[in-house]
Amino acid sequence: MHKWVYWLAWSIVPIVPATGWAAGTPAAASRQPIAIVIHGGAGTLSPKDMTPGLEMEYRFVLRKSLDAGYGILKKGGTSLNAVQAAIEVMEDSPLFNAGRGSVFTHDGKNEMDAAIMDGSNLEAGAVADVQHIKNPIALARLVMEKTSHVLLVGDGAEKFALSQGMPLMPASYFYTKQRWEELQRALKKEGNQAAAVREQYPGTQAHGFGTVGAVALDRYGNIAAGTSTGGLTNKLDGRVGDSPIVGDGTYANNLTCGESGTGIGEYFMRLNLAKDVSDLMEYKGWPLKKAVDYEIYDKLVKFGGKNSGGLIALDRKGDIVTAFNTSGMYRGWVDTRGHVFVKIFKGE
Ligand code: ASP
Repeated sequence: MHKWVYWLAWSIVPIVPATGWAAGTPAAASRQPIAIVIHGGAGTLSPKDMTPGLEMEYRFVLRKSLDAGYGILKKGGTSLNAVQAAIEVMEDSPLFNAGRGSVFTHDGKNEMDAAIMDGSNLEAGAVADVQHIKNPIALARLVMEKTSHVLLVGDGAEKFALSQGMPLMPASYFYTKQRWEELQRALKKEGNQAAAVREQYPGTQAHGFGTVGAVALDRYGNIAAGTSTGGLTNKLDGRVGDSPIVGDGTYANNLTCGESGTGIGEYFMRLNLAKDVSDLMEYKGWPLKKAVDYEIYDKLVKFGGKNSGGLIALDRKGDIVTAFNTSGMYRGWVDTRGHVFVKIFKGE
């Protein structure tokens, strides 16, 4: 074969869009890299706050979540299924601020938010302020697939869950001693006045982290992202954060990247942070790392959000970025070579 035929073949490959004809075909699927990245929340965290036993438990659940998601991708499953499975593992663990283990509102309730997004067609589903759903990410997926809406909240979301055969859990299922004590400390600190959520902005001390998220790339070139959270300790009843809002705490687009954020939602929401990263890639041609680093270490900080959170992201090549301006973020990933990483602290 002539040299120019090789040259032509290789020069065409990078411009074939992941959403185009190459996606979904068996030939494309065998060439396509797979990868997954997860987080279990960002916050103020140092090795001295952690006992070796607790650290091992966190690392174990993060690994279990990666295994669940990557296992699906490896068998040729979709990125949506991988994201949901990885998140459900963390929602089922009392260690994380999502599902079981969610933080408490000012009035002592658990109000959970979640979203999932399909980067192949920009379909999305989300729920907010649900109090009795074991796996809010599964309900968000049902909103995406079974309704013509994007976001359902509160009682309406739970009524929809029942109509789909999803049982409601008693409030006691979500109770953990640690989260209850966190609320008591926060209440004591503010003298049991009406919660002044804005006062939490300058620091993340009152921020009970542990929000969970996942982003995956499957063999068909499709990216999906999801986030699930109990929100912020001592938040006002009815407060909704960035996690269930498409473009703020969760976003996926095959043309650019998938993302899940964690931190003080009030910052992420006003910057439309996740969509901003995607826009920098789409309109300015920035690579993933440059766009994520700019948002987390520059824009967010200049906006007053020093020590306010982090982001996980993955692009269509399977390149992974994790960034946070806090002292720690529970995180893990399996890269395109199949190498597994689980990390907690900064500088690890
Ligand atoms: N971003 C979440 C919220 O503001 C909280 C978190 O990530 O820890 O609801």
